[in-house]
Amino acid sequence: GHTAAKGELDASKLTIQLADPTAREVPTPENANAGDETICTDHMITCQWKLSSGWSAPELKPYGPLSLMPTASVLHYATECFEGLKAYRGFDGKLRLFRPNLNAKRMLMSTLRISLPAFDPVELEKLILTLVATDGDKWLPASRPGSFLYIRPAMIGTQSQLGVQAPKEALLFITASYMPKLDAYPGGLKLHTNPEDMVRAWVGGFGYAKVGANYGPSLLATNEARERGYGQILWLYGPEGYCTEAGASNFFVVWRAKDTGKLQLITAPLDDRLILDGVTRRSIVELAQERLAGEVEVVERKYTIAELLEANKEGRIVEAFAAGTAYFICPVSLVHHRGEDIQIPLGKSESGQYTTKIKSWMADIMYGNEQHPWGVVA
Ligand code: PMP
Repeated sequence: GHTAAKGELDASKLTIQLADPTAREVPTPENANAGDETICTDHMITCQWKLSSGWSAPELKPYGPLSLMPTASVLHYATECFEGLKAYRGFDGKLRLFRPNLNAKRMLMSTLRISLPAFDPVELEKLILTLVATDGDKWLPASRPGSFLYIRPAMIGTQSQLGVQAPKEALLFITASYMPKLDAYPGGLKLHTNPEDMVRAWVGGFGYAKVGANYGPSLLATNEARERGYGQILWLYGPEGYCTEAGASNFFVVWRAKDTGKLQLITAPLDDRLILDGVTRRSIVELAQERLAGEVEVVERKYTIAELLEANKEGRIVEAFAAGTAYFICPVSLVHHRGEDIQIPLGKSESGQYTTKIKSWMADIMYGNEQHPWGVVA
């Protein structure tokens, strides 16, 4: 029989309903995180999908609550995935996103993992750029270069049906929120390895996808570690104790290799799908390969906490840091594992020389001090 063509996600169909520009006030950096609620900008973008008709026209409209039935799929079966990226106000006055195509592609990968509908990631990227262009001038004034907004695209299954099945209705939404610049971990980030009976991800699981179901269950271990004075969990995997991620960030160590004594920048590999393919991680790997060639070898391989403990005893650990969008690049000063401490020197500027170098290369691209194809002007 005849079936009508289903709608594709199409940014050119965006409808626009502008907010009253006086309704929401931009916070100062000092009061931006004062309350318990994330402060969002004037607008959000939403787009509905139905199995029968596909994607509807996306809508840009005033920021406000969503309406869902209590039986909506997401509320029971965690049919949710999300992304996180920042919009940066450059020192040249321009607004930029950092490699937003990677976030859009990763969002599609996460979406498919939980049976939510496919879309063209290029269209998602266009919608993100439109939201940033709409709210950027007010919320990231040119008078505040070096500031940023946090962009949160998300998708949820909205079908109001308690049968366990792939949702026939979904909602894509994008918000932009204000974050103060924080010195997240003064004195360095202190990591505590996960409790023996908890892992974040497992082979055959979904640790590589940015689905909400990965985050709620990690809070228990994180809270316990925080009560003991640590900032994040270093998630180990398996009886071997492979080092994977630090909180919701990727984890890097600079050390001298046991066999050759040569400097290496080591991080967990992507191939066993235990970790998120971080945009920050990937960019650090690529920049270090290009700019530290001959000086520091970049190594993506499985390595264990036992190797770290041994390197520590032999004085081979040079630097360590966590890397992700939200907290950017955080020097790690301590790793605690079952009664043993690995103390890592931070150096003069509270960050080792390679950590400092990599951080400034990245920031220069984000804030337009270096013109680079990764910095996409909104
Ligand atoms: N690992 C996890 C589990 C994360 O949630 C994140 C944040 N998205 C990262 C690593 C870092 O990824 P990115 O550099 O893309 O922010």
